Amino acid sequence: MTIPFLDLKAPYGELKDEIDRAVRRVLESGWYLLGPEVEALESEFAGYCGNSHCVAVGSGVDALELILRGLGVGPGDEVIVPSHTFIASWVAVSKTGARPVPAEPVESTFLIDPAAVEAAITTRTAAIMPVHLYGQPADLDAINAIARRHGLAVVEDAAQAHGARHRGFRVGARPATAAFSFYPGKNLGALGDGGAVVTDDAHLAARVRLLRNCGSRVKYHHEEPAGNSRLDELQAAVLRVKLARLDAWNVRRRAVAGRYLAELAELDGLRLPVVAPWSEHVWHLFVVRHPRRQELQDLLAAAGVGTLIHYPVAVHRSAAYAGSVAGSYPLADRLADEVLSLPMGPHLTAEAAGEVVAAVRAATAHLTQGRCPAGRATTGSPAPR
Ligand SMILES: *Cc1c(COP(=O)(O)O)cnc(C)c1O
Repeated sequence: MTIPFLDLKAPYGELKDEIDRAVRRVLESGWYLLGPEVEALESEFAGYCGNSHCVAVGSGVDALELILRGLGVGPGDEVIVPSHTFIASWVAVSKTGARPVPAEPVESTFLIDPAAVEAAITTRTAAIMPVHLYGQPADLDAINAIARRHGLAVVEDAAQAHGARHRGFRVGARPATAAFSFYPGKNLGALGDGGAVVTDDAHLAARVRLLRNCGSRVKYHHEEPAGNSRLDELQAAVLRVKLARLDAWNVRRRAVAGRYLAELAELDGLRLPVVAPWSEHVWHLFVVRHPRRQELQDLLAAAGVGTLIHYPVAVHRSAAYAGSVAGSYPLADRLADEVLSLPMGPHLTAEAAGEVVAAVRAATAHLTQGRCPAGRATTGSPAPR
């Protein structure tokens, strides 16, 4: 690929000296788990989000699971999740013994539809898990109002939305409980796995601290049989360096997205992502739709443009869940068939973004010529497929 979907090495290139110093500091300290770097990251990330507590954990899916466990969600409970999301949102629910209950999205924004959430509530519902998918905050006003009306917890999956704002406030800002992922490809990514719980609920934060560390507050005194989901000092030290760059990197993502939105507007068959009125999007992914997605992806690959599909199999169709989920989710099915993620990241150059634009324009034009629906032939002769 001339233009990769994402260049994971570039952030290290930009911050090499600082990251090398941070890593050496930890190596020479002799303290590798739950130490001063993790504590500093927790306080810095809570401050960044505008909330009171941050508990760093081993991954994003662990962050979601430990929030749910900390809230007492378990067997017999239901948690409403988006039908269109990364499977981890559902898995976190399943791991507690509760049942994920899907709600369909609003197609234009890809975000969970509050009306579908309300329709999915039963006497067993314990929580709602909106996902700030692709970097855009979900419709939190509507979802929080529904939750208040029904006495439900809201657990935000902010794994793709570090720094995004909802009506001027960052996702995870007080009063909220949100889970973040530091998976390398996320807007704030470690050099391995990591995650964080951010909350204004002191009791929940204390519960998650217990649950991430074998149920222990005091070394070798275990209050309950919990697992281990700790963030290590090396990852925390690297994340602190990157956190200082997060806003600047999100600005660069926004510039790429602005360019795509302007220069790919009104191409035949191509649907662009829609920014909701409440949101300041951080463009973890720039996801377009096309009815002939596979051909579009192949044409872009032939032009040297790397793309990915987030996600090619709707969660209810995955081997992990097929057969155990009631109902049909046609919007999730359609999105799984049509979505395509264009190259996006803080290190995508303006020149590369321009090449992506040119390649997408050429590919969609080519697909238009190749399409001759009854009575609507656009060319006199069949175009190459
Ligand atoms: C990445 C991601 C997660 C899980 O994060 P991990 O750190 O990979 O466990 C959860 N939800 C969404 C929407 C994600 O994109």
